[in-house]
Formats: sequence, structure tokens, C-alpha cells
Amino acid sequence: MDNMQEFPAPSAAAGTAPLAQLHVLLAGPRGFCAGVDRAIRIVEEALRRHGPPVYVRHEIVHNRTVVEALEAQGAVFVEELDEVPKDAPVVFSAHGVPKSVPAEAERRNLTYLDATCPLVSKVHREVERHFGNGPAGSSGSGRRHILMIGHAGHPEVIGTMGQLPPGAMTLVQSAEEAQAIQPANPALLAFVTQTTLSVDDTAEVVDILRRRFPLMQGPKREDICYATTNRQAAVKAIAADADLVVVIGSANSSNSQRLREVAERAGATRAVLLPTADALDWAMLDGVRTIGITAGASAPEILVEALLDRLRERFVLEIEERVVTTEDVIFKLPAELAT
Ligand code: SF4
Repeated sequence: MDNMQEFPAPSAAAGTAPLAQLHVLLAGPRGFCAGVDRAIRIVEEALRRHGPPVYVRHEIVHNRTVVEALEAQGAVFVEELDEVPKDAPVVFSAHGVPKSVPAEAERRNLTYLDATCPLVSKVHREVERHFGNGPAGSSGSGRRHILMIGHAGHPEVIGTMGQLPPGAMTLVQSAEEAQAIQPANPALLAFVTQTTLSVDDTAEVVDILRRRFPLMQGPKREDICYATTNRQAAVKAIAADADLVVVIGSANSSNSQRLREVAERAGATRAVLLPTADALDWAMLDGVRTIGITAGASAPEILVEALLDRLRERFVLEIEERVVTTEDVIFKLPAELAT
């Protein structure tokens, strides 16, 4: 579906040059996914029920604008549970946490709410199933060793690998690592992936692993979520026609970083990641006739609107939205907040 919206050229004030035209290609879908929306609602609902402060372990989603808006309502962001006072509620972020975190919260009698995206929780259940379900009669414990395709240090990877005891999983970060890995028992392997990876890069890594280890178990393709997949497809649909693609998103947002890379590979002359419209450097627009715009799954639409407003300071915009698919996914709040 294509939407074309024409903006009339403002009449130039006497003596000033008329504004130049800029063609804007908006990718659809873009911005907030259902997991991010749910995580924010959990913090807001916790604030409503408990009153401030409500502590949040790690940025609830990787976006400063979202974090600052929640801070203004009384949320306090910390990195570890030992920063949370005894009688304050704490929310775990959408990326998921290792098992040790709720265990520690219980040990300290903290009231906690888990905002882990249900699609990340699904991967947590997968790793537990693979770990517990080796084929009957197999050697050793019968437990499968699990390869996790993802990026070292990302909180989702830390959370997923922390569902099992140390040594039960190995991180695979690239096609090169997939070629080189030497598991102890190639017949007892499974794999899972981070939910926010590049669809194309991950397919390559999975192909290598499947070729090398034909008995490896795992999802049909990977665990990349619907939102990541759709946003990458949408940016591909605008990239080749854009001189510049701007991805609105934070530098620590994995899916936003992947959108920037996908845009460049899909033919954008240049692609940049900007946290907000204020980070736009006008020099980037030199020679640009068509700008593509998208936003990572943790970036609110107000940031896209702010970028359009900033562009209107210097250009007359001709806005075209290319929507590759529509989304109607909504995740329910956890049972303890649902009533
Ligand atoms: Fe969930 Fe995907 Fe959104 Fe992450 S990007 S919060 S996995 S829906």
C-alpha cells in the first residue's frame, strides 16, 4: 500500500528563496512493537498502583526518550538489584533476565514485575526444553548443548544464556564462528537466536550450522521476532530509492542498528542512526533529493514526527509511506496487573 501526501509549498517571504522540495519515504511498519508497548505499560501500571518510586532494572527498552518520560513519572532506573531498596517494587526490562535475577529478588523479598517480552520468554522456554530433552538412550546426560546466535553483552543474550547453568550454551556471533566451532558432541546440539538480529545474516549462520551439524535441533528458521522481520522488510522497500536513510533509534538498540545496516545493504546511498531529530546535521542533506525514514522497535512515533518537523524548517516535504505489512499484535499485561 502506498500513501502519498502532498504538502503545499509555503509562499516565500519577500526577498527569500523558496524552500527546496524533499521527497520523504516513510517505512511501514516502523517504531514501537508489541513487546515494547507492553513493557512501558507495565512500568506505568506499576507506578499507578504502587506510586513512585518504581525501580526498573536496566533501561526498560533501549530508548532514552522513553526512559526519560518514565523517569519524569517516578521510575528509577538501576543496573542491579542491590540498588533497589527493600520495600520498593522493581520491574525487569523487556530484554529478559538470567534466572539468578528473580531468584535474588525472591531471596530479598522484593516485589518484582517481569516485563520480558513474551517472544523472548518463548526463547527461554526453548532453551530449557532442548536442555532437558536429549534423545532417550543417548550417551552422557542426554542433554543438548545449545548454540545461541547473537551478540555478546546484549542484555537479551545475557538473559537467555542465564536460563541454563554455565557451560550449557555457546554464543555464536558470526558466520566465521559458525564455521570454526567444535562442539563436544555434534549429535546432541540445538540452536536458538536473539530476537533482534539481521534476518539475512542469521540465515547464513543457521545454514552453516545446519550443514555442519545435520542433527542439530532448533526453530524452522530462527527466533527473530515479527517486529524485527517486518521493520527490516519495510526498510528494504524504501532503501534503494533513498539517497539517505535515517533510522530513529538509540545506539544501544540492537534492532535499530540492524535497520541501519539493512538499509545500506539494500541500496541506500547512506544510512545513519539518530537518537532524536536534534542530532540531524544539515550537511547530511547536501545533495539529498529523497530521504527514507524508519524507527527501531523501541523508538516512539513522536520522534519521527519531530524529525519531519525539523525537515520542514528547510524543505517542502512530499511524503510517501510504503507499508509492506500491517501489524495487530498486542501482548497482555502480566496476570498480577491485568485486573
Ligand atoms: Fe519483543 Fe521483538 Fe519487540 Fe523485542 S523487538 S520487544 S522481541 S516484539
